[in-house]
Amino acid sequence: MSDISAEQVVARDFYARSAEEQQDFLTQTWCNQCQEIDLGMIEPQEFESQGRVWIEGKCAKCGEKTVTEIVEEDDE
Ligand SMILES: [Zn+2]
Repeated sequence: MSDISAEQVVARDFYARSAEEQQDFLTQTWCNQCQEIDLGMIEPQEFESQGRVWIEGKCAKCGEKTVTEIVEEDDE
């Protein structure tokens, strides 16, 4: 078996986050399409893969996919 290239992407529950965090992630965005920050995101979905966590959603302005990577300081 080889899983070198097969990234295991796990869906997480964005709504398990605190209301404050949700608010931050939904408002602090970058849209490649609009080339603007903080336009907002709708329909957020949170994912995790190999220690990376990110939220995918749609730009509230143009509907283009936006991705916000989350940096979590998580010492094991
Ligand atoms: Zn946009």
